[in-house]
Amino acid sequence: MAALEFPFEPPACNGELIDVVPGEIKWLRMPLPMALNHINLYLVRDGAGWRIIDTGFDTGATRELWERILPSLDGPVTGIVCTHHHGDHSGLAGWLTEKLRVPLHMSRAEYFAMRLVHDLSLDSWEDRAYFRHAGVSDEQVAGFAQALRGFERRSPPAMAYHRLRDRETLTIGDHVWALRSGEGHSPEHIALYSSDLGVLLSGDQLLGRITPNVGVMPFEPEANPLEEWLVSLDYIGELPDETLVLPAHELPFHGLRTRALELKAHHGTTLERVAALCAEQPDTVYGLSRRLFRHRPGAMDTIMAVGETMAHLAYLLKQQRVQRTLTAEGCHVYRISGAA
Ligand SMILES: [Zn+2]
Ligand SMILES: [Zn+2]
Repeated sequence: MAALEFPFEPPACNGELIDVVPGEIKWLRMPLPMALNHINLYLVRDGAGWRIIDTGFDTGATRELWERILPSLDGPVTGIVCTHHHGDHSGLAGWLTEKLRVPLHMSRAEYFAMRLVHDLSLDSWEDRAYFRHAGVSDEQVAGFAQALRGFERRSPPAMAYHRLRDRETLTIGDHVWALRSGEGHSPEHIALYSSDLGVLLSGDQLLGRITPNVGVMPFEPEANPLEEWLVSLDYIGELPDETLVLPAHELPFHGLRTRALELKAHHGTTLERVAALCAEQPDTVYGLSRRLFRHRPGAMDTIMAVGETMAHLAYLLKQQRVQRTLTAEGCHVYRISGAA
């Protein structure tokens, strides 16, 4: 299997377009208001125009960038594809479809997730139960809600969509793209693979340098997303190793199978670390997350660390490698199976 190779330098986050597949696919970047400070978007040649792959997070800066990019193209935008509903990917889907009157393609689960009003106040009893079970105090949760203000969706979502389904295809211009769904990072993520171009538009399903977040969310506290994620990695890892992977973050790369295996190995290592931490000292999800990850103070980072730790614990729980008990204070404490 090939070692990872990163054949391109990134474009600036200012509307610069790079021809990653000359005449067929352009790459651009937009800023994100978080630790991961950019998203990659792509334009795929569609006859005389271009199909947009993912839209950017909805901010004044990203709208301005689109206002600058759209008139610079040599043809009209023919449609929009969103790999999944996360705000950096679908945030401007409603704004763009309204402005351009073009169709939006997404999977069904991602479309409806996008349509939901995202309430980030974290004050439902379910949200509070999730964090209490994880060992996060009510004061911390109030701080998270405060910090998340401003991350709510700004523009209304697109009111209709065309459905993308696993194992079906989407034709864009001269090329037929095979669709592969993935779970674990989001409910029904779609990656697009063209065998004649030798390209995978991987969204967040396969990233070259960072590991996509795989977390248990408050709306499904008993989920086992890591199990789904590992199955999805095997599925995407079946594609040819020489494929050029065009991911939504960091750099395009060659070495698809190597990367899928690296990501699997990464989670395998993390599972062992979590099990070892539970053996050393039984602890809550929050306590374990602090021992597992370098502490970063931001609300989003803490929430993601808690969700990610919980995902690894849910996997170990299903394998019966750890056990979970509820304390009088309402926290789940995890210990290694068989320990007193
Ligand atoms: Zn995502
Ligand atoms: Zn993303």
